Amino acid sequence: MARIFCVANQKGGVGKTTTAVNLAAGMAKLGQRVLLVDLDPQGNATMGAGINKAELENSIYEVLVGLSNVATARKNSETGRFDVLPANRELAGAEVEMVELEQREKRLKIALAEVDADYDFVLIDCPPALSMLTLNGLCAAHGVIIPMQCEYYALEGLSDLVNTIKKVHAKLNPDLRIIGLLRVMFDPRMTLSQQVSAQLEQHFGDKVFKTIIPRNVRLAEAPSYGMPGVSFDPSSKGAQAYVAFGAEMVERIKSW
Ligand code: ADP
Ligand code: MG
Repeated sequence: MARIFCVANQKGGVGKTTTAVNLAAGMAKLGQRVLLVDLDPQGNATMGAGINKAELENSIYEVLVGLSNVATARKNSETGRFDVLPANRELAGAEVEMVELEQREKRLKIALAEVDADYDFVLIDCPPALSMLTLNGLCAAHGVIIPMQCEYYALEGLSDLVNTIKKVHAKLNPDLRIIGLLRVMFDPRMTLSQQVSAQLEQHFGDKVFKTIIPRNVRLAEAPSYGMPGVSFDPSSKGAQAYVAFGAEMVERIKSW
C-alpha cells in the first residue's frame, strides 16, 4: 500500500515545492517507488521535475474532473527517477468545476486508488491556499509534512493550517495526521533562526523532524535546469539534507 503525504503550508514561498520535488528524488535515490503529484496550478513541481507544463496532453486537471485517469496522465521524470502527475494553469479551473461534481473533496483520493500498487510513496505538492485543491490533497493523504522557515512570522498561520487538518481528520479523513514540521532555508549564522528553531522543538517536540534543510543556492538553481537539486548537484549541502530527510521519512514510516 502506498503511503501518501501532502506537503502543505498556506503561505507561499516557504519551500513546499522544493521539499516535494527533492523528497521525491531523495526517496527514489533510496530505491523507493515514488509518485509526485503537482496540485498547484503554477506547475512548479512539474517543471522542477523536468516536465514541460506547456506540452501536456493530460494533466491532473483532466483527472480531477473525470476526463482522464492517473495511469494515462502520469509522466516519468528522467532527471529524478520518479513519476509525476503534472499540472499547469488549467488546474485553476478545476477548483470551480469540482464544486458541481460528486464527492468533490475526494476526487484525488479516488483517482490515486487506481495506481496504489505502483508506488511506495505518493507526495502531493499543495498550492499556497486552504482551497478545494488543498482539501483534495488532505483527503487523499495519510499525513502532512509542513515546511517552515525559522523566522519571526513562521508560527503565524500555522494554527489555521492545524485547525484545517483537525477538521479534515474529524469529518472527512480519519487517517490524516501531521507527520512533522520541517525546518527549511535554515541559516545557522542567524541568531533568530536558532531561537525560532529551539522554540519549535520546545512546542512541538517529536513532531519536528531531526533533519534541517539549509539555505543552499544549488537548490534554488536546480529548477531552471528542470532538475531536482538532489540530482543537479548531489554533493551540495542542500541535496544531502534532502536525501537525509528522505531516509528519516522512510524510517519514521516503518514504526507506524
Ligand atoms: P513554495 O512552493 O512554498 O511556494 P518554493 O519551494 O517554490 O516554495 O520556494 C520558494 C523559493 O525559495 C524558490 O525560489 C526556491 O528555489 C527557494 N528555496 C526553497 N528552498 C530553498 C533552500 N533550502 N535554499 C535556497 N533556496 C530555497
Ligand atoms: Mg510551490
